Amino acid sequence: MVTQEQNPYAPPQSPLLFITDDDSVWRDGRFIVMLKRSELPDRCIYCNEATRLRKNRRIYYLNPWLQVALLLLFLVFNVLAVIPIIIVILIFRKSGKISIPVCRRHWRKRLILTIVTLGTLAISIALSFASIEFTAYQEQLLAVGVGMFVFSTILAIVLGQMLKAKKIDAEVLVLKGARPAFLDSLPEYVAEQDN
Ligand SMILES: [Zn+2]
Repeated sequence: MVTQEQNPYAPPQSPLLFITDDDSVWRDGRFIVMLKRSELPDRCIYCNEATRLRKNRRIYYLNPWLQVALLLLFLVFNVLAVIPIIIVILIFRKSGKISIPVCRRHWRKRLILTIVTLGTLAISIALSFASIEFTAYQEQLLAVGVGMFVFSTILAIVLGQMLKAKKIDAEVLVLKGARPAFLDSLPEYVAEQDN
């Protein structure tokens, strides 16, 4: 990476280095488009309230066609495919680091939902073990356990990560998960940015 620190009098070598934060974060419909080196503004991605609170996350992306191919591979070869699938994922997934601004109120909400999700999951696992022990109530325990497992899985999918990647390449992150209040405050992305 080229830095300007070596020679403070050097002319700008890449115009991208001098784009300010405000110029390098856009909205494209319901997506945030941003340069990897940029920071999101100090506003909650859910309600747009000014905030200093940030959560650092690493976000991963795997091409959807590759995801389908790997799923098919798993359906055909089952357990035999697990190690090759993990290797392909590790080779082809792309990632980016991001610091996500969120207000205290929304952070607390997410925390509570996460605790509920993990609690439900833990109880469902405990119930399936209990069903082995208490054979008289085996069916009932299993039924409740499976129900709670499905509930926690749905909750985890709905809740998901704070921001998910729609696309990651060498320079740019395209993210979904921000609410309209935040998106509306960003400049509109023009597809052919001249960079
Ligand atoms: Zn908020």
